[in-house]
Amino acid sequence: MQPHTPTQGYIHLYTGNGKGKTTAAIGLSVRAAGAGKRVFIGQFVKGMPYAELDALKALASHITIRQYGRDCFINNAPTPPDIEAAQKGLAEMTAIVCSGAYDVVVLDEICIALYYRLFSLEAVLHLIDSKPAATELVLTGRYAPRELVDRAHLVTEMQDIKHYYRQGVEARKGIEF
Ligand code: ATP
Ligand code: MG
Repeated sequence: MQPHTPTQGYIHLYTGNGKGKTTAAIGLSVRAAGAGKRVFIGQFVKGMPYAELDALKALASHITIRQYGRDCFINNAPTPPDIEAAQKGLAEMTAIVCSGAYDVVVLDEICIALYYRLFSLEAVLHLIDSKPAATELVLTGRYAPRELVDRAHLVTEMQDIKHYYRQGVEARKGIEF
């Protein structure tokens, strides 16, 4: 077993169909910022405004945020601009992880970006393998591939037992985005 030392960062993976993956990553980021850690949050696939990202801007001295999605959801096949935005994001985040300038790096919706084949699994594994030992990585999104589950040290699957959207409740500002 790996010894626990304060210099060891682990890999978290929050996946599954239930609500709570992104908010868990944001919660961890707030906790890390409160402890004086430097946090970078990159969000794939999504480019729309999210209330939690606005809230985090108030913590800007500790948390940096970038979105690598476009201003609309991907329906069916991703377009070349969707792919370009995601690939640029992954390249930027790989450099950011390698730099060691952040203690905690969140790759929000990276599993969804993989699901849509916006970039290759090999490119994501390369990013993970480039992680400085002390960096904590948080990966989120539905449909985590087996290879990411294998690499992660912590995997939580949010299970959708019940969701009010089946009663026709639409996504609400401040609760879902
Ligand atoms: P959260 O951001 O709340 O932590 P998540 O990251 O686990 O959620 P995502 O798959 O990113 O989940 O979905 C974003 C939000 O949209 C979630 O709050 C989810 O409950 C909600 N949602 C998912 N599917 C639907 C739907 N069909 N109708 C309405 N809302 C939905
Ligand atoms: Mg999410």
